Amino acid sequence: MSDIPSANILYIEDDLGLAELVRIKLKREGYHVVHAESGCQGMTLLRDRNFDAVLIDFYLPDMNGLEVLKAIQALPRKTTCIMISGIDDMQLVVDAIKQGAEDFVLKDSEGAYLELLPTTLGKVLLKQRLIAEKAAAELEKNNNEAFYRSLIEHTHVVAWEYLPNAGRFSYVSSQAEKLTGHSREEWTSDGFWQASLHPEDYTKVSAFCASKTHIQDEQGLEFRLLKKDGNEIWLRQIVSVVETSAEHCTVLRGFLIDITESKQAMEKQRLAELVFDTIHEGIMITDTHNRIEVVNPAFTKITGYSFAEVRGQNPRIFGSGLQDANFYSALWQSLNEHGHWEGELWNRHKNGEMYAQSTSISYVHDEVGNIKRHIAVFGDVTEKKQAEEKIHYQANYDQLTALPNRQLFQDRLHSAVASAKRNHTQLALLFIDLDRFKEVNDSAGHEAGDRLLMQVAKRLNECIRETDTLARLGGDEFIVILNNLSSNHDIENIARSMLEVLERPFSLADGIDAAISASIGIAIYPADGEDGALLIRHADAAMYRVKETGRNGFEFFTAEMNREAGKRQQFKSAFKDSLEKGEFKVFFQPVWRLCDGKIMGVEALSRWQHPEWGMVMPDDFIPVAEESGFIHDLSLFVVKEVANQIQVWDEQAFNEISVAINLSPTQFRRLDDWLTQMHQVLSDHAISPHRIKLEITETALMGDTLKLMETLSHVQASGIGISLDDFETGFSSLSRISGMPLNFIKIDKSFVSQIGQQGQCNVIEAIISMSHSMDCQVIAEGIETEEQREYLKQLGCDFGQGFLCSRPVPAEDLLTLLQKGFLFD
Ligand code: C2E
Ligand code: CA
Ligand code: CA
Repeated sequence: MSDIPSANILYIEDDLGLAELVRIKLKREGYHVVHAESGCQGMTLLRDRNFDAVLIDFYLPDMNGLEVLKAIQALPRKTTCIMISGIDDMQLVVDAIKQGAEDFVLKDSEGAYLELLPTTLGKVLLKQRLIAEKAAAELEKNNNEAFYRSLIEHTHVVAWEYLPNAGRFSYVSSQAEKLTGHSREEWTSDGFWQASLHPEDYTKVSAFCASKTHIQDEQGLEFRLLKKDGNEIWLRQIVSVVETSAEHCTVLRGFLIDITESKQAMEKQRLAELVFDTIHEGIMITDTHNRIEVVNPAFTKITGYSFAEVRGQNPRIFGSGLQDANFYSALWQSLNEHGHWEGELWNRHKNGEMYAQSTSISYVHDEVGNIKRHIAVFGDVTEKKQAEEKIHYQANYDQLTALPNRQLFQDRLHSAVASAKRNHTQLALLFIDLDRFKEVNDSAGHEAGDRLLMQVAKRLNECIRETDTLARLGGDEFIVILNNLSSNHDIENIARSMLEVLERPFSLADGIDAAISASIGIAIYPADGEDGALLIRHADAAMYRVKETGRNGFEFFTAEMNREAGKRQQFKSAFKDSLEKGEFKVFFQPVWRLCDGKIMGVEALSRWQHPEWGMVMPDDFIPVAEESGFIHDLSLFVVKEVANQIQVWDEQAFNEISVAINLSPTQFRRLDDWLTQMHQVLSDHAISPHRIKLEITETALMGDTLKLMETLSHVQASGIGISLDDFETGFSSLSRISGMPLNFIKIDKSFVSQIGQQGQCNVIEAIISMSHSMDCQVIAEGIETEEQREYLKQLGCDFGQGFLCSRPVPAEDLLTLLQKGFLFD
């Protein structure tokens, strides 16, 4: 029965025969038996070797069984002993058991004990084994408990026990305090859990705790807890034990693991990915061999290539060829020396277009300093570059004509003068101002004006060489720098060709043409000035002279022009004062009916009686008044003077006389304003609008100025007559002005003066008959001779005006003429 095979048994027996019998018997049962003949021999063996059990015969030659037993008990190693004795030794046996023997076997004469021995031995050994196992188990149990306790107390994990019904922890391990700063007492107090949860996670955790089926979730629940210091800690809760009674969950046990670091790492990672994916800069990472490993979405947006298309490629595939080998070797040198390169690259988009990218490339090294990767971060700066170019362009070029502007012109002039000084050469400045441009602009509109300027710029450009500069200073002013001149003759040729190209008509819009001309003033370095500013001033003065002497021409600067320019400046500053001081006067020139010579009306003409300069004529000051805006005040003054005079004449019973007032084209910009003020003056003086005519020039009527037409129609409807002044067929044709709100057409004196010359008669005749067909009456200006008067009368011209009858005169003198009544017969 022995399940302890090969158990070592020591048999102490002096009867050799019996010993042999027992040995054979036990061997058969699987025991290994060592025999000792005496107590001493047995003890010696026991000291040396380890036996599972000792069989002790009570009677031994040297000592009895009890003495042996005592000796064995004294040994450090405990050995199981079985006493063997005869029946008559029973009391001894009982003593032996008391002394520590495990069992006894009675030696009978029939030898039955030989059969009993193995059973007893087996029983004893089994018991011994069970005890040993129990002891081992006990030991292990003790060890385990200590192990787990120390494990729990020393691990970073918090072990806990939670009572769902009470809503609080009943136990937490010491780590809870270390992690959170809250003491274990706090942890296990009522309401702690709820109060220290992160507000955002409260619902999640509460739901979990309230749930009836607490699944032992391997994943666990993640949430944040507020530490004592107010910071948050990320915890993962793992429920590993759930105890339930009936349907309630009574106890939960588990662990809390601090996952703050991994959460933060994950957050960092998430942010890094977010940045990688959403940043506007392209990111490209290449490996040691500069093969593309990763690119981000912005990369694709900027380059046009998807990741799949560029994976494993060398970035040189983006090269535009715009930067040469030197550029790239400098790039690599900087990378190798500093681990970094920054600059602008021109690359080629997948669609073939070039684009500029601002790029920063860095090396990433591994732990031992080898280059692991290159990281290139880049942004498309094409727009920025274009914007810079645009800003530069806007600062230096005129938007409308694409010519250099004043700024760039100044720079060029500066260097041209410097170079002329160095090389002892001449240069010329041509100041070009378009004639009557303001009138076109005011009447035909800004768009038409712009179109005209663009065409002018184009034509002027054709007249100069590439080394020269044509710039637009603003408005209708252009300026040219002519370098390296050999003679004045060259300049003249260029100026003349400019006037010529401008002579061709300009088409401004469908059906709207304009004819303009230009006035060109010329100043030469070094004769007319040694610096740029002076040259400009002198060229401007020369230009002004051209304006004064009939426009459409050019003039070289002379010293006298300087004085003219000064005079204009003086005019401008004197105007306002002079008007207040009453230095401006209104003269009147009669207009008579050609058929019977009766004076029907007058034209009001301004004069400036200056205390120092004497009588200044309108041809001198009107252009300056127009330029400075003074014309508005001046013409209101004229209206007031006219109103006063009409009252005077009415008193003398000349209540039929009408008065014509001149309107400058520049006044059309503020016409509504002026008309309101004029009507006010008339009504203040109780004067009927029928007594007033307004004289406007042809240019005012040019273009598709619907609003102006409307305004003039209103003027006309109020009873005021409208005259078209200075009519010459050269500028606009009669058919063009048909349909305009006009009552009178005034034939220009240049026409009248040509009466008698060949061809003119037909033109005047045509004007008169066409005007009449448009229901306009005709006034001939500048009649100086009887011949002219007679001729116009014959043609059926309605009215006449001119020195033949009278020069413009002060109001007092006019009275005398009016009193005469009929001047001609
Ligand atoms: P305009 O409107 O053509 O006026 C007629 C001009 O011709 C006047 O010159 C007048 O003196 C002159 N004139 C009249 N009859 C004859 C003649 O038989 N032979 C010659 N050679 N000339 C004659 P004035 O007064 O010097 O005025 C010159 C221009 O100044 C006017 O030309 C008019 O355009 C402008 N002007 C005069 N006063 C005013 C004003 O108050 N406002 C505005 N906007 N312009 C004015
Ligand atoms: Ca014996
Ligand atoms: Ca006039």
